[in-house]
Amino acid sequence: MLGVTIRRDAPIKLHRFVDYFQGFEKVRAVRDRFGPQTEKVLEDLKVEFFSSRFGFMGVSEEDGHLIVSTHYLRNGEERELYLDVIHELVHVRQFQDGRKFFPEDIDYPDRPTEIEAYKVAVEEARRIGMKEEEILEYLKVPWMDDDDYTKLLGNLGIKVVTGSD
Ligand SMILES: [Zn+2]
Repeated sequence: MLGVTIRRDAPIKLHRFVDYFQGFEKVRAVRDRFGPQTEKVLEDLKVEFFSSRFGFMGVSEEDGHLIVSTHYLRNGEERELYLDVIHELVHVRQFQDGRKFFPEDIDYPDRPTEIEAYKVAVEEARRIGMKEEEILEYLKVPWMDDDDYTKLLGNLGIKVVTGSD
């Protein structure tokens, strides 16, 4: 009818995680997730890059591989990239455990899978010496509006101190 052909079976090009992200097997927060399997899990983990200016990182719900924006990879702040990788590795573990990390009936900031991933990232942020205001800034992401942001902070037990008055 339209006179065109669209092949819908486009392959996804996957790369080895460890070719692009090195040393994460030494991070305590990562080892806590995978234990003695850490090296093997990271060795086997695949990463898919996409070139949109929008979006950051995620984990495939189909097979648990990491998905990373090349734009973000080039331009993102190093500590934020580091924390995002740790956040996503929590999702990798959740995937292995058979947990659904996109339950559609639960708002993003209330999803137990997200709260767990953000908690691990925030603990790690503190460990590497980020200040509370830098952490608050890190958590301010474009896909959450003010209500979601406040909800997430509440779920993470983070208190926002504003001024002294
Ligand atoms: Zn997440």
